[in-house]
Amino acid sequence: MLDYHLHLWPHGERDRAPTLEHLRSYCEHAAAAGVTEIALTEHLFRFRQADHLLRGFWRDDPDAALRDSMAGYWSDHARADLDDYVRCVLAAKDEGLPVVLGLEVDYYRDRMDEVSALLAGYPFDVLLGSVHWLGAWRFDDVRDEVSMAQWSVRDVDAAWADYTTAMEELAATGACDVLAHPDLIKAAGRRPQAPDECWDRLAEAAASSGMAAELSSAGWRKPAQEAYPADPLLARFVDRGVALTTASDAHGLPEVADRSADLAAMLHGLGVETLRAFRSREPHDVSAGALVAGS
Ligand SMILES: [Zn+2]
Ligand SMILES: [Zn+2]
Repeated sequence: MLDYHLHLWPHGERDRAPTLEHLRSYCEHAAAAGVTEIALTEHLFRFRQADHLLRGFWRDDPDAALRDSMAGYWSDHARADLDDYVRCVLAAKDEGLPVVLGLEVDYYRDRMDEVSALLAGYPFDVLLGSVHWLGAWRFDDVRDEVSMAQWSVRDVDAAWADYTTAMEELAATGACDVLAHPDLIKAAGRRPQAPDECWDRLAEAAASSGMAAELSSAGWRKPAQEAYPADPLLARFVDRGVALTTASDAHGLPEVADRSADLAAMLHGLGVETLRAFRSREPHDVSAGALVAGS
């Protein structure tokens, strides 16, 4: 198994200088759960370099409360140094730890060329592409009352459609390698009567872009109470030959490799025999042997 989605710092906590000791403990915890390789994929928005490039992306949102909430959230997060992060993960690789260098990149409409230009200056192995926000609305931030209140005033079908469109646009940019938590829009537990069209479109976005899709245990820790993606969307990915990664989306050591055996069981049930791994943003497959061993 892989854990290809890991953060160093919990939301709501300030970043600390990354250390080799921190990464060693992640690798030990992962290995104990049968995970053979991990990707560090901190949020791009946690870094000052992103602040210079992207601050204010939310300005066009018509909702002042959401704009204020996002401005505060952004300021709380955009403080770490990308160069320090990259140096630390590369040092772990040099030490022989089973680590690859990644980043979780949000979709910034009309600004992905600038994002790609920034990231091209670093030796990333894998870039996750994510949609956590629609305009200034953090639809998955279940701890934020301003964001969650929106679920009472918005149309759920429209929210899912807007999310799906953003994921399609993100995939079409070619800026990233893996569609992270592909149905994150369900995080707060709100689902449309008929999600099939969104599932079809998300599967098509992954297939036509050549991106891999992520199978993540993080949804079990949210009101959604199921893995990302839901079984019918995972089946669509498999049917269309979309490569898969597995992930915990841990934001701290106790969640590293969380429920990897349950993810392995899901894959096994669908006959998935390989997972996708990356080096220098080039894909390669790892065998189902490791997958069965982790189950
Ligand atoms: Zn995410
Ligand atoms: Zn994440």
